[in-house]
Amino acid sequence: MPGKQPVLIRTIAEMRQAMKPYKANGSRVGLVPTMGALHAGHASLLKRARSECNVVVASVYVNPTQFGPNEDFNKYPRQLPLDLDRCGREGVDYVFAPADAEMYGGGTQTLIHVAKLTERLCGTFRPGHFDGVCTVVAKLFNIVQPDLTYFGQKDAQQVTVLKRMVADLNVPLQIVVCPTIREGDGLAMSSRNAFLSVEQRKQALCLYNALQAGRNVIVQGIKTSSRINAIMRDVVLAAGPFATDYLEAVDAQTLQPMEELAGTVLLAGAIRIGATRLIDNLLVDVT
Ligand code: AMP
Repeated sequence: MPGKQPVLIRTIAEMRQAMKPYKANGSRVGLVPTMGALHAGHASLLKRARSECNVVVASVYVNPTQFGPNEDFNKYPRQLPLDLDRCGREGVDYVFAPADAEMYGGGTQTLIHVAKLTERLCGTFRPGHFDGVCTVVAKLFNIVQPDLTYFGQKDAQQVTVLKRMVADLNVPLQIVVCPTIREGDGLAMSSRNAFLSVEQRKQALCLYNALQAGRNVIVQGIKTSSRINAIMRDVVLAAGPFATDYLEAVDAQTLQPMEELAGTVLLAGAIRIGATRLIDNLLVDVT
């Protein structure tokens, strides 16, 4: 069923103007930042925002500053008309889709850098990525001024870093973390899955299989992270000659490795299937 189309907003001034009455009458404003090519994972965030907020804003913006020079910025899928339909079906009120010139036109000299949490995992392989994410998300927070904002557990390091930014900078909003939505066979939904060939799509499942193998051995009582990491890597190796950026058990709060696992553990991985980089993670409580 087609929903009511959301209002499409292209400029910061119009976005601020649109939010004014809601801020004035105490409405709960929800923001769902996305890079578009929306799928059921994004939709779960939009649904949650719709159920908790009076007004829902989705941003659709492929942020250039979070892509490295050799990454997929140029070929990242862009499909605003389809995204507007999807947002309409999820009851989104406003879609903020600015051009690069609107977001960065004046030239920018400010970057937000969260230190320790960005040093490992994706931070090692995507230098500057989290500075780009934090800066654009801070800009979106200042433009929309949401009360609640929704992010996916799929990007576990991103949400950990953003929570820290919000705490450190006393940003007056609440981050809501939503569970990872998966395909029927378990592959985490991602806009980048569209890049996979039929064969690669089958192979891609090895990342989730590896994380599950890690979780299974933890449940069986193995708590030494070097052993768990080796087991996870073996699952990927057995599936094919894929480059593993990282595949490891870390402390879910600090994202630091720990030899003897305890508390809430994040099993996190990033692998490359051909030119496509996929990430996924599982949280495991170690008792
Ligand atoms: P992206 O468009 O990839 O920047 O993602 C926008 C938001 O959707 C981020 O908060 C992601 O963590 C979230 N997201 C992406 N994929 C999924 C998924 N499979 N399940 C839940 N959330 C997701």
